[in-house]
Amino acid sequence: MTALQDLYARISTCTACDLCKRRTHAVPGEGPENAAIMLVGEGPGFHEDQQGRPFVGPAGKFLDELLNSIGYNRSDVYITNVVKCRPPENRDPLPFEIDSCRAYLEEQIARIRPRLIVTLGRYSLAWFFPRDTISKVHGLIRERQGTFFVHMYHPAAALHAAGLRKVIQEEFRRIPQALQRARSAQPATFIIEPAAEQMRLF
Ligand code: URA
Repeated sequence: MTALQDLYARISTCTACDLCKRRTHAVPGEGPENAAIMLVGEGPGFHEDQQGRPFVGPAGKFLDELLNSIGYNRSDVYITNVVKCRPPENRDPLPFEIDSCRAYLEEQIARIRPRLIVTLGRYSLAWFFPRDTISKVHGLIRERQGTFFVHMYHPAAALHAAGLRKVIQEEFRRIPQALQRARSAQPATFIIEPAAEQMRLF
């Protein structure tokens, strides 16, 4: 069993918050253990809870399209979420739920060591950069302590607001450029402390 598989087993039996009570399946995440790109969403919805896999519903279909548009398949990237169990009726995850799940995403990042992290939506953005708002930083490429980030609106937002679809499609095209920058920079030392923030915006 790899370290990540061991992590998945721990997530699947986690009872750290009440989200475990109503889950069908926990959704740890999936993708190559050496993925250069990690996409981080908010939390599983109905379809993800049923299948135990991230982004397999309507938002996932759009995400697949977005990845294909830049020459990637979902099997090329690592996909996970801030919370690993579905919040009831797809409500927003609560601060306690996010905190209960925090160590799992930290461990995923530490093990996979992605060069580029793509945050999808405001909860994912806030997990890394709690003081930022998505309306201000969407589409930006930035670097903190050797890890590069691109911030995107959540793909589900495009399903409800047609105008956002184009914005997301256009901003997704920055991912290859961001990865290229990340690859030519120093290897990542991931530090989550906001106090240690040293950012460069591009
Ligand atoms: N929305 C998310 O944020 N994550 C998923 O896995 C599915 C929908």
